[in-house]
Amino acid sequence: MMAAVSLEIVCSACGADSLVRRVPKYEGFKKIGEKFACVSCGHEYDSEDTTPFKTKRAPSIFGEEDRLKKVDLFAIDEKHRNCRYCQHYVVNPFTQRCGLDSRIVQATDSCDKFEKMAEEQKIAGEDRKKEPTL
Ligand SMILES: [Zn+2]
Repeated sequence: MMAAVSLEIVCSACGADSLVRRVPKYEGFKKIGEKFACVSCGHEYDSEDTTPFKTKRAPSIFGEEDRLKKVDLFAIDEKHRNCRYCQHYVVNPFTQRCGLDSRIVQATDSCDKFEKMAEEQKIAGEDRKKEPTL
């Protein structure tokens, strides 16, 4: 036996955002199907096809975008706190160190002593890397 469930509709009879009750349809004593009755006005819809069920709300586009933006901002913020963007970050062929206390660091480490590398420094560093080593 199917449980009695309420379903959301926008009733075409009373215009309300309403719910329908499933009402069993009988032919004599034999159940031949279901109809749906608006709980606000009692209007009965003869079949599932004619019942103005609310279509499921599409996911909010704005909500989605905002969430993506937040993720992006967070990612950028994290990236710029990484050792590789810090002016104390020292790279040599085998290790990466923090110039402040000479501890070995990873480029992706983030540090509370982080100080943003100046743009010129960063560009100079990248240029050096491209030079062929002898
Ligand atoms: Zn109604």
